[in-house]
Amino acid sequence: MSSLQTDSTSSSLPAPSNPSNNPGSESHSEEDDAIAPGPAGTGLPPAGSELLLSAVKDVRQIIRLVQCQICSGILREPTTLPCGHSLCRQCVPQTHVRTNISWPATANRLQGFECPFEDCKKEHALGDCTLDVTLNKALSIIKTAVESDRDATGLTNISTQITVQDQWDVAGIPSLAERKTEPRVPKGGRIVATYTLAELGELGYGCEVSYSSVGMGDDAVDMTVLARLKESARTEMDCQVCYALFLDPLTTTCGHTFCRGCLHRILDHSDLCPICRRTLSIQAQVNRQSYPSNERLCKIINGFWADLVALRSQAYRLEQQANLDGFDIPLFVCTLAFPRMPTFLHVFEPRYRLMIRRAMEGDRTFGMVLHTSPRAPDEPDFFELGTLLRIVNIEFFPDGRSLLETVGVSRFRVTRHGWLDGYVVGNIEKIDDISVAEEEATEASETVRTRGVREFSPEPPPQDSANAEPTTPARSEAVPISLDGLETMSTRELVNIGVEFVRRMRAQSVAWLTARVLAIYGECPTDPAIFPWWLASILPVKDEEKYRLLGTSSVGTGSTSVAEEVAAVQRLLKASGLTYTMHSAGTTVEGSWDEVMKVIGQAHSVVHSKGVVRVQSSMRVGTRTDKKQTAKDKVKRVEDILAKETTTEGASS
Ligand SMILES: [Zn+2]
Ligand SMILES: [Zn+2]
Ligand SMILES: [Zn+2]
Ligand SMILES: [Zn+2]
Repeated sequence: MSSLQTDSTSSSLPAPSNPSNNPGSESHSEEDDAIAPGPAGTGLPPAGSELLLSAVKDVRQIIRLVQCQICSGILREPTTLPCGHSLCRQCVPQTHVRTNISWPATANRLQGFECPFEDCKKEHALGDCTLDVTLNKALSIIKTAVESDRDATGLTNISTQITVQDQWDVAGIPSLAERKTEPRVPKGGRIVATYTLAELGELGYGCEVSYSSVGMGDDAVDMTVLARLKESARTEMDCQVCYALFLDPLTTTCGHTFCRGCLHRILDHSDLCPICRRTLSIQAQVNRQSYPSNERLCKIINGFWADLVALRSQAYRLEQQANLDGFDIPLFVCTLAFPRMPTFLHVFEPRYRLMIRRAMEGDRTFGMVLHTSPRAPDEPDFFELGTLLRIVNIEFFPDGRSLLETVGVSRFRVTRHGWLDGYVVGNIEKIDDISVAEEEATEASETVRTRGVREFSPEPPPQDSANAEPTTPARSEAVPISLDGLETMSTRELVNIGVEFVRRMRAQSVAWLTARVLAIYGECPTDPAIFPWWLASILPVKDEEKYRLLGTSSVGTGSTSVAEEVAAVQRLLKASGLTYTMHSAGTTVEGSWDEVMKVIGQAHSVVHSKGVVRVQSSMRVGTRTDKKQTAKDKVKRVEDILAKETTTEGASS
């Protein structure tokens, strides 16, 4: 004869799971509730077998899974309330007419009742409380399994002696201990016997039990029963959207249950229940505070299949975050965005709603690439360079559209792309600015090199324009900046020119620099690392022009890389012995046809060798037989013309 006290210490209604207490999610706003936490959304940390109920030690808890918290009987026609608690349909309290409800004032919404669960006590509309289809099926399957087992064990004469202890007994309060019930000896092992007691209404939900085996009862009997219960109930626990075990089950007002994630996906496309086609009156974001998980189903699923749930949530997370079908990030094909700068988006297409929700469940980032019309059918419809955006604020509309505030994080180049559920995903290669140390070295060498280059100009353009009084309006407006002038300037001087330009534009009250624009993008930054992005964000220039900035790798100047290549070609020309002159729009080379063409070919090779994969030379070829005039003769005139140009861009070879 063995006697066993259950481990359960719960003697009152179990405390509700705390939705804001999700380990592993930085819950600082409502949106975080979209993140699926541990098993079945109970707020428990992802765990495996320790949650599984034992047929030997946890019999009382197993029976509680099917007991009504209100009447203590086996749940009959279970109804799951909007707060996630379940009770028998007959245990739904008396209804009253709800007052001050004008919308949606349907008949069944005007009838309400006060929730009998201590941690809720809210008023629920009767219309929101229908039969919980999944729970109902699961309970009837369990009932059938228990009954057939009871019949079978009846034949072998197994029965169990049970002593019920109420809360006072458990607490060891002697004055009430005399009410102690007589031990009962129902048929079956511990599980079946305890179920019978609950069915007879003799086992209060909060009561504990102790067992004394009678006859042949042993652990093996209960283990077999539990295995059969799990096996038969398992088929009812699959979501009808993903056909896998419910992950964070949520029961809608029509009584159908879906994984929270699957419900999200349903709502991306429709507001109808995919099973019964009734309207799902649920806001698209389905956050955990407004729409708690089905508590009873969570407990059953975790108690029976916690190990499967753990695997499933792990797989779900992997699917959400890393995998993307082997791609790095989702790509939003839309607009031009810059690092450090805000980008505002209105998301309404179902595929992008899904993409954004997945981003919210993951690390809140996605890639933004500028749309373009592909020149060939097999070319993508977006530019290859883009910006990684992080969602800093999101506002959902009830119909699932959302307004996004994002900030640019970093730049990337798309190296490969594909599709996932209708949107583009890509493998990316980050584009980083060179390090500060490299930046300094580049700036220093650039100044030296450009001084060297200028030796070839008979009359160098004025190079001190940056040092001029910035507040001399006549000068700063009239004096153009030549390429050579720009290349000689330090990064700081360049930024000063930019800032001064902005100041002048502001003084002129140009349309693109209003207080509203400044409120969005902030005051003009003086940090050379931010200034270009800021200016590009607000400057009324075509996106295709601004796009070129995304490919730069140096803070100093956008033309740095071009200048490097030009310098390399210069060295080549010098070595060729031909007569040449370099100016901001190109280089004039003189010589015989073959010599000139040869050196142009070599120039291409040099630029290619510096990692530039596509080089295009714009050439104007002139030949004359009437007189011998060298380029040098023309230089003076050319220089005069160039001095009036304001181009800041580099040369072609
Ligand atoms: Zn009940
Ligand atoms: Zn409630
Ligand atoms: Zn599902
Ligand atoms: Zn339904």
